[in-house]
Amino acid sequence: MALGLIAPGMFGFRKGMVRLERYAAESGWIEVITGSMFSGKSEELIRRLRRAQIARRKVQIFKPHIDARYSEAHIVSHSEMKMESASVRTASEILAAVEIDTEVVGIDEGQFFDQELVAVANRLADLGRRVIIAGLDMDYLGRPFEPMPLLLAIAEEVTKTHAICMCCGGTASYTQRLFESRERVVVGASGAYEARCRHCFDPHLASATPSGLPDGLADGAGAGQ
Ligand SMILES: [Zn+2]
Repeated sequence: MALGLIAPGMFGFRKGMVRLERYAAESGWIEVITGSMFSGKSEELIRRLRRAQIARRKVQIFKPHIDARYSEAHIVSHSEMKMESASVRTASEILAAVEIDTEVVGIDEGQFFDQELVAVANRLADLGRRVIIAGLDMDYLGRPFEPMPLLLAIAEEVTKTHAICMCCGGTASYTQRLFESRERVVVGASGAYEARCRHCFDPHLASATPSGLPDGLADGAGAGQ
């Protein structure tokens, strides 16, 4: 999809624009933190947002409603760092919820939003906000996970985080799914995913498992929470 088709100004943002545009004279920008699961994306997002708070910037944090693995009201890293956040169902809800004096907008699990997030991030940056988005770069088959590829293209700054491969101990960039499902979005239970390097990653592993679920993986794992 051409960026021109999702240019700022689409999706009926006019109301939000008028409310927020007094900040437009200041320069905003977009930072993206992306990588596989277990690569420390949320931890890095929380680190940056905490530093902004220490610098007395007003920060607001959003996550998609789908991600209630640890908490409805917080973003939480695998290392149990957490910050208060608001759950939203669509990217345009973020634009509606950003307050006039908010300077930094943090968004976790960006891959669970649709492409509207690209226009929302652009609009917030155009209006002088620092926008920091964390999300998976690839899905369980190793395919670019929209809208993250588009966000990488428009961001001023991109950080790729890496995990450790659970097979060989090398640097991991892929998320290995360990159960059978062709659904792209299955929020992971513990043990349902692991990080793998390019050599050890096998997108067909799950479908080669006859019973669907590997040993030790409880019924219903990955079917929601
Ligand atoms: Zn490996």
